[in-house]
Amino acid sequence: MDEGILFIVSSPSGGGKTTIIKATMERLEAWGRPCYFSVSHTTRSPRPTEQDGRDYHFVDRETFEAMVARGEFLEWAEYAGNLYGTSRAEVAGRLERGVDVFLDIDVQGAQQVKTSIPEAVKVFIFPPSYEVLKDRLRKRRQDPPEAIRRRLQLALKEFGYVGDFDYAIINDRLERAVEDMFGICTAEHHRLARMKPRLDTIREAFAASLEEDLTE
Ligand code: 5GP
Repeated sequence: MDEGILFIVSSPSGGGKTTIIKATMERLEAWGRPCYFSVSHTTRSPRPTEQDGRDYHFVDRETFEAMVARGEFLEWAEYAGNLYGTSRAEVAGRLERGVDVFLDIDVQGAQQVKTSIPEAVKVFIFPPSYEVLKDRLRKRRQDPPEAIRRRLQLALKEFGYVGDFDYAIINDRLERAVEDMFGICTAEHHRLARMKPRLDTIREAFAASLEEDLTE
């Protein structure tokens, strides 16, 4: 199996990226590609539906800062007053084993990862409008109104980073957005540089069989 790809997916909070990533991963697994969703560390408190170890590793600021000091994070950033980070352990060894790894991280973290792993593929998920994003944040019923306002203000700032990304998806309809994301992932796997080792193997076996046939 060829190496896995590191997909960095960013969008403003409430943009729907977690749902899109999970649905895309299911499709990729069915397509024959093992996938892994990286679980971040955060100092934010868990929302009612969230589980420690599944959605995030929930830690206090002291633990997080000690991990930063020990260099355990591939990237980390402060977002809306809380710290978030991807530990190196989440990614280590997986790409080499052919697993695609998905990071659901903010735009600052995305920039940091691209510096240390330049072959990572960055996808930005845009909400179709202000109204839709506001509505999604409200319906989630997990953040108080002032946190929602802060997240909407942040969203506008985050749009400014889209130029650093390789791809953009507008999350208007979920099924369409998943289709788009799956298309991006499969196209990336078909880049010639990534296909080359498999193509070389086929060509060598082809040449050997042809030679055998000709000498019969
Ligand atoms: P939320 O609090 O809504 O779960 O996440 C807030 C923001 O933090 C989202 O944009 C999310 O993608 C981002 N985020 C989650 N995990 C990480 C991480 O490990 N690193 C960085 N830089 N951002 C993260």
